[in-house]
Amino acid sequence: MKDFGYLAATDLATAVRAKADRPDARFLGGGTNLVDLMREGIEAPDTLIDITRLPLTGIDERPDGSVRVGALVRNSDLAAHPLVRTRFPMLAQAILMGASGQLRNMATVGGNLLQRTRCLYFYDRTTPCNKREPGSGCAAIGGFNRMHAILGASEHCIATHPSDMCVALAALGATVEVESVRGVRRLPLLDLHRLPGDTPHVETALDPDELITAVVIPADPVAANSRYRKVRDRASYAFALVSVAAALAVEDGTVTAVRLALGGVAARPWRAVEAERVLTDAAATEAEFARAADAELAGALAQSENGFKIELARRTIVATLRRLAAEGSTR
Ligand code: SF4
Repeated sequence: MKDFGYLAATDLATAVRAKADRPDARFLGGGTNLVDLMREGIEAPDTLIDITRLPLTGIDERPDGSVRVGALVRNSDLAAHPLVRTRFPMLAQAILMGASGQLRNMATVGGNLLQRTRCLYFYDRTTPCNKREPGSGCAAIGGFNRMHAILGASEHCIATHPSDMCVALAALGATVEVESVRGVRRLPLLDLHRLPGDTPHVETALDPDELITAVVIPADPVAANSRYRKVRDRASYAFALVSVAAALAVEDGTVTAVRLALGGVAARPWRAVEAERVLTDAAATEAEFARAADAELAGALAQSENGFKIELARRTIVATLRRLAAEGSTR
């Protein structure tokens, strides 16, 4: 591992100033992804700016009913919080299905948002990878790609985003707060992660000196009837082949509100806007759920080993909505 400097920031202004002055520095939160990447030589920061002492650990309900989650809240604490468990159950479930208990105890919300792909070739420095080394090629195309993307990929990269938490936050319409020496700005979570296009090494819409300070989840009554369903090779400690975060409201057999996002299928959490459009005001039937899934997946493209994901995504969407309809149809 390359030598690096260490700076423990005690306030936000110092942290963002230090990053602005050191373009090759990285913020250190839980370190559960960054330290691995440094050990593998994928990340080689010249300085780690330790932000764990910053006051970004609150989970607060605001007057408009939204919930503001500090970027340094540990994944375990967020999943266990009563506000999350009662108002956003899909978020609690998604976090609990991600990683081990030990990792959830260390990993932060901000770090979860910014964790990098688990594409095997990204971690193998003997193979070409446009994300790790722009212009070198993509070993996954035509290689081992059973875990890779079926939506939004490009000829330069077919990696997926590994987070479960982000999928639920995408369905919930969360907003991300970021801070730099230029002040605070807010952006929709759906705008945070980029599709690969011809620059797969540019993964987010953040400027290099910006620090995520919080995530805001808007008040949304439909989110109380929500679920996260994750399909994976093992019952635990495995990344999603396909996952679905969904919330559903049904009145008199008709869908009155739906929130739907997919994980394990693209380089970013995939909000299923086409499926939501088809489902809104449709009958809450299996046939309509399947029609919505087909509409969302119409543009899906398979690689050499991951064609099964398209049917798997379709079935997982239908199964999740079927269960929510059964649980939430009260009138
Ligand atoms: Fe690299 Fe992306 Fe190709 Fe994986 S899919 S080898 S991360 S360029």
